[in-house]
Amino acid sequence: MSLWQNTKYKNNYHVFYNTKLRFLIFLFLGLFAFVSCERIANSVFSDKDDLEMGASIDKEIRSKPSQFQILNNLALQKYIQSIVNQLTKSPAIRKKQIYTYKVTIIDDDKTINAFCTPGGYIYVYTGLLKFLDNEASLAAVLAHEIAHAEKRHVRQRMLSAMGLQLVLSAILGGQSSVFQEMGLQIAGSLALLSNSRADELEADEWGFLYLQSSPYYQGAMSYFFQKIAKQEKSSKFNKTIESLLSTHPIPEERLRANTERIKKHKVKPPSPSNLLETRYKKELRKQLKRGSTIYGEPIEDRG
Ligand SMILES: [Zn+2]
Repeated sequence: MSLWQNTKYKNNYHVFYNTKLRFLIFLFLGLFAFVSCERIANSVFSDKDDLEMGASIDKEIRSKPSQFQILNNLALQKYIQSIVNQLTKSPAIRKKQIYTYKVTIIDDDKTINAFCTPGGYIYVYTGLLKFLDNEASLAAVLAHEIAHAEKRHVRQRMLSAMGLQLVLSAILGGQSSVFQEMGLQIAGSLALLSNSRADELEADEWGFLYLQSSPYYQGAMSYFFQKIAKQEKSSKFNKTIESLLSTHPIPEERLRANTERIKKHKVKPPSPSNLLETRYKKELRKQLKRGSTIYGEPIEDRG
């Protein structure tokens, strides 16, 4: 009886001990997971780390012409860079002195997308340039991409993907090899550049703010969302839209949120001078190769 009791007690103690230990471990991991990921990212990685990581992804992208064919058109690159430079005048973009915010164009008409690495290397596909109707919409997409870098969304996803152990070993054992490996993986699959719903909404919110001090219509992201929603129903663009939605999900919810922002901030209405449609299409027609099309409009027909 006493033995049984002792054993029971012992066993209970054993269970209690294990439960307590497990609880503490879960508490620790839980704290790690739920204390703002942004704060953890900020304490584990410096902005300079982000820039270095972006540079290594950029190098990797440039070494893979079969996957990423860089468009060598200096005039078009300069034009799009000038839009980014207008945006980075915003006082809300805090890391412009550290991050590069340099644009590269990828020659791929079938991909309607853009992405940004940690440290601010921005990539825009010709498919997106041709899909959009005006300079303000492109500015809105670029502002959204800048927000992903400013808010360090890729880093936060890296932290969850790497797990605590790998992060700690990377910190204790020297970061470069682990992070370099991660950079190669990102460039290889762009998997970590897929954005969560929360990241997307946050990037839209900040992107909207960055547009405030620019010459562009602040609500311009809605044009992009509306066009995606319309094209989602058209079979012609299914594949390209699918690729876009895989990295930038839920346009309906984002469109609603943007419409609310426009109302709330009493945004100055759109006009030819803040949408800049004529200038945009003229620039694209001038720079992109003849025989291709700007969203259904043959370039050669428009001179
Ligand atoms: Zn995004």
